Amino acid sequence: MSKMRTALVLTLAMITGTALLAPAAQAQATMADVEVKAQQLSDKVYMVTGAGGNIGLFVGDDGVVMVDAQYAAISDKILAALRDITQQPLKLLVNTHHHRDHVDGNANFVAAGAVVVAHEKVVPRVMNDENFDPVGAPTITFSDKLSLRVAGDMLQLQHFPTAHTDNDAVVWFADENVIHAGDLFFKDRFPFIDLNSGGTVQGYIDAIEHTMAMLADDTQIIPGHGSLANKADWQRLVSMIVMTREEVRLMMLDGLTVEQMVEQGLAEQWQDWSWGFINEERWIRTLYNDMTS
Ligand SMILES: [Zn+2]
Repeated sequence: MSKMRTALVLTLAMITGTALLAPAAQAQATMADVEVKAQQLSDKVYMVTGAGGNIGLFVGDDGVVMVDAQYAAISDKILAALRDITQQPLKLLVNTHHHRDHVDGNANFVAAGAVVVAHEKVVPRVMNDENFDPVGAPTITFSDKLSLRVAGDMLQLQHFPTAHTDNDAVVWFADENVIHAGDLFFKDRFPFIDLNSGGTVQGYIDAIEHTMAMLADDTQIIPGHGSLANKADWQRLVSMIVMTREEVRLMMLDGLTVEQMVEQGLAEQWQDWSWGFINEERWIRTLYNDMTS
């Protein structure tokens, strides 16, 4: 677990280029230790964990739809986990957004037969990343919503324009009562809201609330990061965001600089939400920058 967490932190750091970078060899060694595990959630849906954003698998009667790809270095392990579940061909790969820990393996899954589907703004983002293999760029894109009929089941993709980035989509397996939330959901930890890629705090809250309104209390939610979750877990994230944003707003009214806010910190009850990539300082700076930009 600690190794998986380390891998996530290192590679998320690479996306934003603001935190510590490990030497490439060290990152490779960390990837070699990653264990890929599949958990069955319903008749046809599985959640796969390894390193990077959680993967969702929809196993239909005549093909597989995969949601997010994690890192290229572990694509073989992910395909092995898929083959343990089914011999059906991999037909579609959906990317929930452009961050590397969700798209790095794309080209390997295209080689395995997948067609890549994503919001239209994912394309320029990945093509501007010199480390991204362009073979893995999405070839089917959409702007607002997309419905995919797969072996009689309906999969629905919904875009939110200013949430975690400017190109997020959630994937709803409606007949299975499961949703893949992408990085609109970091379970029980401060979320990464990528203000430099079009994300906003209010847009993030709105996207979650809009989506939650469509879900049942027992809908299973695959978060972008963290363990399998439900609506109450997601509501807890929204409450945390609203309450910590209010704390930062009050500190601003008191005339504190952002450095003084970091020094003072948030209320004690949020201590457990801090983690390697988004610690309390980074979360305060996100809220402050969002409010003042
Ligand atoms: Zn992300």
